[in-house]
Amino acid sequence: MPVKNRFAELLPDITAWRRDIHTHPELLFDTHRTSALVADKLKEFGCDDVVTGIGRTGVVGVIRGRTDTAKRVIGLRADMDALPIEEETGVEYASSTPGVMHACGHDGHTAMLLGAAKYLAETRNFDGTAVVIFQPAEEGGGGGREMCEDGMMQTFGIQEVYGMHNWPGRPAGSFAIRPGAFFAATDQFDIYLEGRGGHAAKPHETIDTTVMASHLVLALQTIVSRNADPIDQVVVSVTSVETSSKAFNVIPQKVHLKGTVRTLSRDMRSLAQKRLTEISQQTAAVFGGVAEVTYHRGYPVMVNHDTYTEFAADAAREVAGACDEAPLVMGGEDFAFMLEERPGAYILVGNGDTANVHHPEYNFNDDAIPAGCSWYAQMVESRMPAA
Ligand SMILES: [Zn+2]
Ligand SMILES: [Zn+2]
Repeated sequence: MPVKNRFAELLPDITAWRRDIHTHPELLFDTHRTSALVADKLKEFGCDDVVTGIGRTGVVGVIRGRTDTAKRVIGLRADMDALPIEEETGVEYASSTPGVMHACGHDGHTAMLLGAAKYLAETRNFDGTAVVIFQPAEEGGGGGREMCEDGMMQTFGIQEVYGMHNWPGRPAGSFAIRPGAFFAATDQFDIYLEGRGGHAAKPHETIDTTVMASHLVLALQTIVSRNADPIDQVVVSVTSVETSSKAFNVIPQKVHLKGTVRTLSRDMRSLAQKRLTEISQQTAAVFGGVAEVTYHRGYPVMVNHDTYTEFAADAAREVAGACDEAPLVMGGEDFAFMLEERPGAYILVGNGDTANVHHPEYNFNDDAIPAGCSWYAQMVESRMPAA
């Protein structure tokens, strides 16, 4: 069964919206132009309700089906924000904002959900209510969390929720999904080491924080190799080492380490946090120094609900004829907060042979639009079949 014919007709329009959004990327919660564009389009399509300012710059549109006998409400979500990267795609509709680009394809997600909203508002061939959710600040700002904290699920009576991300390396318009833990919890840490600075030629008079830091960076890897069950997935990466002195002849008083921890279960996340703190404090103590650890919990593990994963895979099969099993992803996804509030699932749509997301040469593949739009629309029509 192919993609919905209507999306072949709408493809030039949806592609034009996508490229317009691409030319005007906006960061985090500053999606003012994009949010206004989305709200205007949803009103133009004849959505029954369009609400702005949820989760600061989030936008929600409500589309009622022809009937509402089963009183069901399904949420479909896209993200709108870009990344602080200098674009190197060379396309004629490239970013007009220096240092900001749509390097994760959220321009494509927004355009595809707009396309689905236009189709659903035209056809209304379902029994229930479709709620289209456009969130800001997926790239680290927690826009999805803020929309949930604003009571979005309750306000609109959303009962289940679905999201999608493009995936470079998969054939354009093909689908992949997995049940259970799918995207990792993404935490950050700061470790402040303090010793006693001094002259580099008199190390015996100092407590050397660079030696302390060097041991610590290696010791932290034992969380993965010695503390975690080998079956569990966990990543501990120290990504920044900064000393309080830049001179060649000074042993620095302080060293600041930064990094990230990625885990796929609540237990592993707690274990990693506990061990990171213990290893830091005790390694510092071995050398006579002290460590202060700040552990910042970011996005939680994104968990696809089993039954709803099957619903999403079935819709993908309707559209593309097949749905593959997706790999585990150690990246994070703000949609995790929505899946903590309501059951649902998150699916990957192939972006073809493009540069990877977050790369300056990445670009969303417009060939994926008909399949992506069709999947969003199919979720509504399959879960709320016309009475
Ligand atoms: Zn991204
Ligand atoms: Zn993304």
